[in-house]
Amino acid sequence: MLGLMQDWPLTVDKIADHAARWHGEQRITSRLADGSITRQGFAETFARARRVSAALRSLGVGPGDRVATMAWNHAKHLETWYGTMGMGAVCHTLNPRLFTEQLSWIVNHAEDRAIVADAQFAPLLAKILPDCPTVRDVIFLDPAELPPIGDGLRVHRYDELVAAADPTGVIWGGFDERTAAGLCYTSGTTGNPKGVLYSHRSNFLHALMSLQADVFALSASDVALMVVPMFHANSWGLAFAAPAVGAKLVMPGAQLDGASLFELIEAEGVTFSAAVPTVWQGLLTYLRESGSRPTRLRKVAIGGSACPEALIRGFWDEYGVEVIHAWGMTELSPIGSASVIPLELQGQPYENTVPFRLTQGRPPIGVEMQLSDDENRDVPHDGRAVGRLKVRGFAVAASYMGGDGQAAWDEDGWFDTGDIASLAPDGTMRITDRAKDVIKSGGEWISSIEIENIAVGHPDVAVAAVIGMPHPKWDERPVLLIQPRPGCTVDAHGIRGHLEGRIAKWWMPDAVVAVESIPLGATGKIDKKALRADAERGRFGTLG
Ligand code: AMP
Repeated sequence: MLGLMQDWPLTVDKIADHAARWHGEQRITSRLADGSITRQGFAETFARARRVSAALRSLGVGPGDRVATMAWNHAKHLETWYGTMGMGAVCHTLNPRLFTEQLSWIVNHAEDRAIVADAQFAPLLAKILPDCPTVRDVIFLDPAELPPIGDGLRVHRYDELVAAADPTGVIWGGFDERTAAGLCYTSGTTGNPKGVLYSHRSNFLHALMSLQADVFALSASDVALMVVPMFHANSWGLAFAAPAVGAKLVMPGAQLDGASLFELIEAEGVTFSAAVPTVWQGLLTYLRESGSRPTRLRKVAIGGSACPEALIRGFWDEYGVEVIHAWGMTELSPIGSASVIPLELQGQPYENTVPFRLTQGRPPIGVEMQLSDDENRDVPHDGRAVGRLKVRGFAVAASYMGGDGQAAWDEDGWFDTGDIASLAPDGTMRITDRAKDVIKSGGEWISSIEIENIAVGHPDVAVAAVIGMPHPKWDERPVLLIQPRPGCTVDAHGIRGHLEGRIAKWWMPDAVVAVESIPLGATGKIDKKALRADAERGRFGTLG
């Protein structure tokens, strides 16, 4: 006998058990659809998760079956996650902002067996479910009345099902850590959406990775506001990380505007939060306009798209809140890097750390990175050369569900992120573009992200998007589209003046166009495909 360590499968029911046993009184605060606030402890939450598991069993759902959710962030959604995963079924989060055809395509591809949903999505479900024959049960989380939803479906009230469930003998863990736990489709690639199937092991290890000091550094004395929707890249893992350390959780429901978030931040004593730049811009604007100051908030993680300098500075200079710029993707569970400042910058004035914070930071343990060119040759990691960013790791997808889109992986298991980046010798990574958005002018790359970030530093600019337009001499040239802040106007001359000296001369956009609104995709990112199509149709006038 070798005398090795115990084989303790890394399954997420253990996160629930740990939180319930040792942090049972720690609260989860939720804002519901009607604006009301509920509070419940981890012990109560995870006892209910076991009942969810039993309730699903009573409906005939078994291990391996897919159970979809269409809900905002609140405690019952979390109970559903753990209840589904705890019994070895797969929790499939649906993004309600997708088009109906995409949603029914995804539900059919996943062969979802049941859907657990907020009642407000009943009309949407009524549209898609007639085309989804695998779905047999719909469970509404908050219905006063059960909304009509279509023939042939069994419709239930969550509270009644959970109250009636008999949790004795329920399946709760006890299976292999490589069992599928969660499913999230990404539309970031070309063609049909692709399913990313998280395992218990990947969720567990990702939680531990995200908790370390060089990433989110969460502990039992933190209060974490979970702004990123649970249907967007696993809520950046916070649904696992916060219970794993017993951090108090605040779940804001559907209201993500600055005023609503600030109210929760103050009422609940939030110390940490994570969200995309547009959400943080909303909070910063609210703070400035209302003259309010957060009292306990010390750190915000910003990612999902590049974090503008104005946010990094604004939060610190005006409110003493540190910004951690993070990069990730659905396929990475999602964290790939975070800009927690390195030793040589510790103790330095914040000002000196801003250039580092503008990068996407360094990869934590568990994420390997490298750069390749289009012919799969190595690109030097010198902090200057750019190439296709490739990753491997314990929380990186090994394929898409069903083996779709296999071309994204090479024979050594490296996943091509579709991002173009530079990588310094110490792992500091800087994204310059999505591969499909790159602008190549006269054979040289222009970083649309960098121009956009500088443009949104102009006080009258709300959103900026740079797209490449065909050019007879240079192949492509950048065009800058600006959505002004409400009540402001912008002119091309003023914007060019703002960019001058901040970008290389040959990066200067050929046209600067003010537009009413810049379209955002289902996860709140600028929809450049739509913008390019608009530009080709001449929507922005003559560009030249
Ligand atoms: P998703 O899977 O929807 O989260 O999208 C992932 C993509 O978002 C990445 O491949 C990047 O293109 C982009 N992204 C995420 N975080 C950042 C960041 N901090 N800076 C720039 N792009 C980012």
